[in-house]
Amino acid sequence: MPRPIVATIHLDAMKYNLARAQTCAPQSRLWAVVKADAYGHGLARALRGFAGADGLALVEFEQAVRLREMGWTKPILLLEGFFEPADLETMAACGLNGAVHCIEQIEMLEAARLPAKLNLHLKMNTGMNRLGFKPDEFAAAHARLRAIPLVGEIALMTHFANADQPQADYLPIQEQIRRFRSGALGLPGSCSLSNSAAVLRQAELKDELVSHWTRPGIMLYGATPGEKSAVEFDLRPSMTLTSAIIGKQSIGAGEGVGYGSAFRAAQAMQVGVVACGYADGYPRHAPHGTPVLVDGVKTCLIGRVSMDMMMVDLTPVPQAHIGSRVTLWGQGLPIDEVAQAAGTIGYELMCALAPRVRMIED
Ligand SMILES: *Cc1c(COP(=O)(O)O)cnc(C)c1O
Repeated sequence: MPRPIVATIHLDAMKYNLARAQTCAPQSRLWAVVKADAYGHGLARALRGFAGADGLALVEFEQAVRLREMGWTKPILLLEGFFEPADLETMAACGLNGAVHCIEQIEMLEAARLPAKLNLHLKMNTGMNRLGFKPDEFAAAHARLRAIPLVGEIALMTHFANADQPQADYLPIQEQIRRFRSGALGLPGSCSLSNSAAVLRQAELKDELVSHWTRPGIMLYGATPGEKSAVEFDLRPSMTLTSAIIGKQSIGAGEGVGYGSAFRAAQAMQVGVVACGYADGYPRHAPHGTPVLVDGVKTCLIGRVSMDMMMVDLTPVPQAHIGSRVTLWGQGLPIDEVAQAAGTIGYELMCALAPRVRMIED
């Protein structure tokens, strides 16, 4: 018998969320972001769930090649671009579009001899200070790229730092859009700006935000980038992590639970042992009180998460027994709520899901 922990992937929810992203930005084409094994959901599933996307974007070369092998014929974008000259051959052979964010990459392109032209995304750093050319270096980088014979289409891209914070007083999205416009002034090519947070604000920003190609990730998986809940945005969870109660203990007042006896019972209580631990990807730093469902009833984690197990308070669910179903996140328990309690974000929980967790589809 396998351990009872299972991640169920809801392909219908992925399709639904994709349609939501398309509705939010109806004028744009859409790169569905599938990096990190489709945020932990599996690349093959993303291929089916996001079959309606205009392109797929990721950072891993091996996975990009696999997408072609699995039959994806529409565009693929490498969000970090290429790392060494040999990568350019893979890009030409598989028709991969890549970001260009530094002079060293332009030098590699100048030195390359390839059998096919490459379509590229020239990236501007508009304040995120991660990848890209400064706005005042951008036109020169564009001209140098344009002069390379093996370069085909050049799209223009940037990435927002604070799109999830409408009230940001430092570097609000409007400021990054302004810098992008000024750095890209007069340059031809389609623009790709919006991540999920910006897609979700397209209606508010209207013509101020022009992103011919959007790049949503997290919203497609039914979680949100900011404070507002997935329900408010009408997004559906694409991953439900469930397990079962595999042990029960009755403890008296003053007794401790788990390593370090980090939880101490105020009164006599029932404790449920769940087959889910940090080696499954559940965050070890999740504190006492992190929400969990047992037989559909909300209760909470108690004590320290161990490698294969964690303990929960059965006080609100006295009927719980060995085999009772436990939901760690997903349908019935938003991943964002669990993430917030654990001091992280839904993204990290999804991506951290361990390979030993069985994954099924419904
Ligand atoms: C990951 C990533 C995205 C998607 O971001 P979400 O917040 O998940 O929507 C978009 N663009 C780039 C460059 C990324 O690295």
